[in-house]
Amino acid sequence: MQKHGTYYVLRLYSISFPLVRLREKNPKGSDYFMEHRAVFLDRDGVLNRSIGKRPPNTPEELEMLPGAAKAVKELNDAGFKVFVVTNQGGVALGYMTKEDLEAIHARLQEEVAREGGVIHEIAACTHRPWAKCNCRKPKPGMLIQLARRHKIDLENSFMVGDREMDILAGQGAGTTTILVGDGEEETTADYAVADLAEAARLIIEQLGPQLPPQGGKS
Ligand SMILES: [Mg+2]
Ligand SMILES: [Zn+2]
Repeated sequence: MQKHGTYYVLRLYSISFPLVRLREKNPKGSDYFMEHRAVFLDRDGVLNRSIGKRPPNTPEELEMLPGAAKAVKELNDAGFKVFVVTNQGGVALGYMTKEDLEAIHARLQEEVAREGGVIHEIAACTHRPWAKCNCRKPKPGMLIQLARRHKIDLENSFMVGDREMDILAGQGAGTTTILVGDGEEETTADYAVADLAEAARLIIEQLGPQLPPQGGKS
């Protein structure tokens, strides 16, 4: 009896689970298998320099880090969607307006486009640091929202950041995590490398190929 019961439950689970997912995720029946893999990037210290300890507050202050734009293009070419997830509490604190932030992000897109790359969406938490919102890293809210909107397979995706709070957000969302920087930051990341160019190489050459092929989960 016991054994039968267990068997039956397992069978039910394995049969019904894919059907339930199919219904939830794909009401129209065509694109269920088209889940994308993504690389989520922190902005300041990963794509561009910080100005001392603060982020750039104008487009003119935006200075890309060497090889960062090209790394985005390489990730695009390897089949990854690329997103930016950035805490910009300076908006709520009055250091810049939302329009300033949009102008900075337009410039960032231009810099990446110059190397032939594209950032598919930039998500920014503009709330105060103590606002207790769900988007501010180390919470994973921005990654989870983007994943829903863009059909991202988080388990087979990556978070790259230069601070432990980025890594915690990546872990909270279920991604593989990579810390970039000089090695000063204490981290629980899965990997640590010098910069985004190295992170992209690690993802494309070593970690990416072990994952299931794009667009198919048998
Ligand atoms: Mg940073
Ligand atoms: Zn927020």
